[in-house]
Amino acid sequence: MIKTEKILHLKSSRGRKVRVVREHYVRERVPCYSSLCQAGCDNNGKVLPGDLTHYVVPDVGVVVDYQEILEFRELQGIVFTQTACQAVHHCKGRSRQYNRLRNLLKDPRHDSVLFANEFQEYSFCLREIGESQEQWQTRCVYSAAVWYYNHLAGLMDVVMITEDRDVIAQYSNLHSGVYVISVQEYLQNFWSALRAAHELYSSICQALQEKESECTEKEFTDHLPAEVLEAGIKSGRYIQGTLNVNKHRALTEASVRAEGLSDKNAELSSEVLVYGKKNRNRAVHGDIVVVELLPKSEWRGKVSALTEGQLDEKNGEDLQSKPMPTGRIVGILQRNWRDYVVTFPPRESTQSQSRNSQRILTVPWDYRIPKIHVSTQQADALQDHRVVVRIDSWESTSLYPNGHSVKVLGRAGELETEMQTILIENSIRVPPFSDAQLREMPVNSPEKPWKVDPAQVAERRDLRDSHLVFSIDPAGCEDVDDTLSVRSLAGGKLLELGVHIADVTHFVPEGSLTDLEAHARATTYYLADRRYDMLPAVLSADLCSLLGGVDRYAMSVVWQLDAHTLAVDKVWYGRTIIRSSYQLHYELAQALLNGEQAEVPELSLLSPYEKDAKLAELTQALEMLTHVARHLRAQRDQGGALELEGVEVRAQLDNEKNITALVPRQPLEIHETVAECMIYANHWVALKIHESFPHQALLRHHPPPRQEFFNQLVESAKSRGFAIDTRSNKALADSLDKAVDLQDPLLNRLLRMMATQAMSQAHYFSTGAISEDQYYHYGLALDRYTHFTSPIRRYADMVVHRLLTAAIDVDKGQSPNKALATNKELDELAHHINKKNRAAQQAQKLSTELFQCLYFKDRDPGTDPCCVTDAVIYAIRDNGVLAFVPLYGIKGPVYLKNREGLVLSAEQDRRCEWQSGSVRRYSDHIMTTSTIGTTTFKLFNHITVRISVQSSRCHADSVSLELVYNRPHQIGALHQTQSHGRNQLVQEVVRLAQEASQQVQEKATWRPKLSKEEHEFCQSKSPNLYLLLEEIRELSLMEIEY
Ligand SMILES: [Zn+2]
Repeated sequence: MIKTEKILHLKSSRGRKVRVVREHYVRERVPCYSSLCQAGCDNNGKVLPGDLTHYVVPDVGVVVDYQEILEFRELQGIVFTQTACQAVHHCKGRSRQYNRLRNLLKDPRHDSVLFANEFQEYSFCLREIGESQEQWQTRCVYSAAVWYYNHLAGLMDVVMITEDRDVIAQYSNLHSGVYVISVQEYLQNFWSALRAAHELYSSICQALQEKESECTEKEFTDHLPAEVLEAGIKSGRYIQGTLNVNKHRALTEASVRAEGLSDKNAELSSEVLVYGKKNRNRAVHGDIVVVELLPKSEWRGKVSALTEGQLDEKNGEDLQSKPMPTGRIVGILQRNWRDYVVTFPPRESTQSQSRNSQRILTVPWDYRIPKIHVSTQQADALQDHRVVVRIDSWESTSLYPNGHSVKVLGRAGELETEMQTILIENSIRVPPFSDAQLREMPVNSPEKPWKVDPAQVAERRDLRDSHLVFSIDPAGCEDVDDTLSVRSLAGGKLLELGVHIADVTHFVPEGSLTDLEAHARATTYYLADRRYDMLPAVLSADLCSLLGGVDRYAMSVVWQLDAHTLAVDKVWYGRTIIRSSYQLHYELAQALLNGEQAEVPELSLLSPYEKDAKLAELTQALEMLTHVARHLRAQRDQGGALELEGVEVRAQLDNEKNITALVPRQPLEIHETVAECMIYANHWVALKIHESFPHQALLRHHPPPRQEFFNQLVESAKSRGFAIDTRSNKALADSLDKAVDLQDPLLNRLLRMMATQAMSQAHYFSTGAISEDQYYHYGLALDRYTHFTSPIRRYADMVVHRLLTAAIDVDKGQSPNKALATNKELDELAHHINKKNRAAQQAQKLSTELFQCLYFKDRDPGTDPCCVTDAVIYAIRDNGVLAFVPLYGIKGPVYLKNREGLVLSAEQDRRCEWQSGSVRRYSDHIMTTSTIGTTTFKLFNHITVRISVQSSRCHADSVSLELVYNRPHQIGALHQTQSHGRNQLVQEVVRLAQEASQQVQEKATWRPKLSKEEHEFCQSKSPNLYLLLEEIRELSLMEIEY
């Protein structure tokens, strides 16, 4: 090791220049992380492949300004030098970028490594006298590039990229095999097909140029330095929290939910209002900010009137606009900027905006995000397009933040564009699975059929001959992730119940590329017309699908129960091999139970005698199962399990999975039976992993709701003479069951909907992160719960499978083959999965709304009978009511008073007309008074509404409801078509969109490029509507998820 000196000129956080001299040790051996290494480096971890045409070494300027381009996964063989990484690290305000860089280097899916060039004896350069920092850094990077070329004995060419013309002139001819070129040249020469990278490059260039020509007049006050903010928070003078912009009054109203209030401020409500643009001081929705309270005399209240598009807030929220703590933002601790979708304005307004400059003011799709200046040379081509942008900075001299475009999604209003918008706005990334990921997958093809491994047979409990295993799923279902078995033991004294789940983690080792991808997605995403799988199809639809008649690996839970009391005698957990005998669907299973004539496909070839015997055996198993499930359900009912509002349609699918009919779901007992067994398995696995790992198991809890959220439910039910008791889940469940109006079945459904809305969400957590009394699952009335039964489509279940495997190993006296995640790691994982689940839920909701809008968009509300329909009032507001349209599943506000001050009044035939008058709100009704007379709108009354679409150029369209009659819609047929609407609607919109895109393609305009992207995005577009409906049901029930 050789000692030398390294001189650094750093900028302190206050902008002061500091000269630092450090002792610096260099050594001969520093790993090169290349598979071509000729010198036997100690290359632990990621290694660059040897079969590339070159390695690329970006200089400091490129890493600082163009890192996003280097982040493309298509780029290969990138060597980041320590010099460049440190430069990013020391750049003021770049800590997020530095973190991204570190994650990139860690991510095995990205082909890049870090070379510690300044510790390498032969690549390190001493800074020369008179040499600027930039010159020295360039020399270091170049020297690293030359070192690589020599170290790999000329086997690999090396390309250094830079944006500095002088550097290219100075270095490009110094050393053969080491090339120095610009980023643009590099992209053109090596990645000419990677259009997205080229576009991003020009967009970043543009943004950098604009930044240089920025004016200097201040629009905002400067943010305080970090030290001052920290001291202020400590002393209680300032409050720290996350900025939340009010979607409906985004320009003026935002609030900060305070985190970690000091005692001094404890008496303050936990929320601080930030009113107006100046006070918001460049903070963006989601940023962690620091607020200073204004004097009490300047405090104000929130606005409470119904705003367009505004739905039910949590019922407990105080609707009075009394003054509340109000403050101004003095600093920002952490920017939480993500990718935003914006819309470019039409030509007229770009021309008036700026003639010379190509800086365009774009409008984000999310109302809560301020307009963004985007520099571009394509303003004309991009008008009325939706584009993904990133914010670069927001200087105090600028009214708006500056950003650059990353990717063009397409023309606003088109189905594909809007669907991609929904994904990006929810930070959902679902690229096609990469070749490297697919290479990890087992093969199962006609030429090379997958077979059970004899080594696995030796390790697993083999149930193939001993157990009658079967699955019960919706008709036409392909992904079978759960199967059941049940049999009588010990001459009828014992009953053995088994739940067998696809052994996904056998095929997906922890830390593999497929695992990382599944982790990043966390769930399969179901949108209105498509789904994006969490795992590649060879697993989800084949080897991890527990199909009938084939051998499959499973994770099993097997209980021995007392045949009479059904008390648990013994539980066995472990890996198994199964072969499912029957792939039943719900109706068939129920028919067998009911003793009806039914054809079981698996038995069709047998002789009548054999058939009868097999049928009797199967029926007996189903009867036993029903018996056990009834008992389990009764046990949970005692504890207070809740049944909440759900979707009651079922899609009937033909052999090709096309939807042939939508029939109202018949509540079959077998549904509940299967659900109960899965809940039971989840519960027992939760008990097991918690027992084995008290501080680091992944469980799921459902916190009890806050009582005040039930106020609206209780008051509403009271107006119809029903008492809802919310003191416990059992009391709530019982009183909801009794609140039935025989005249109007919708009433009970609406009450359950309100109850659902008042509930908290269920969440995953690590057992070490919260105290045991918080583990309770309110909805299921269980003290321990987790997710074990759907590892194909939920990452949480994969984590739980691994925990269960580790627990079994511990029982056997073996140590788990991998170190377990710590409580902290598991807690972070739980947060990540919870966040992704919320995003999935939100994306699903938005895509359903998108389809509703597309369905109604081209209909004339004045003449089309589809647009006039029945609705029920479910909440009263100051200037109108909230209504639910059962036919289409739409909820929305119905205004009784408009902007001109007119109110809706009913004539003799109860047709409503706008008149001048007044409106008055009561707890369970609202009244309008005009010259025609007084009209009363009561809670739960049926009204007739007209549906139309409010188009928005920059945001999502929305459906609006307009009152037509103050009476039920009379051209009934309500019962025949009830709830068909939503799904017919999806089908029709898909059909129209396909027709439209065909037409466009026939016209052969600029469109083809886009459709290629469309194809890339769709991974499994099979309209497996059943899964979708199941998922919607899950969401609305919160926890019939098993
Ligand atoms: Zn080496």
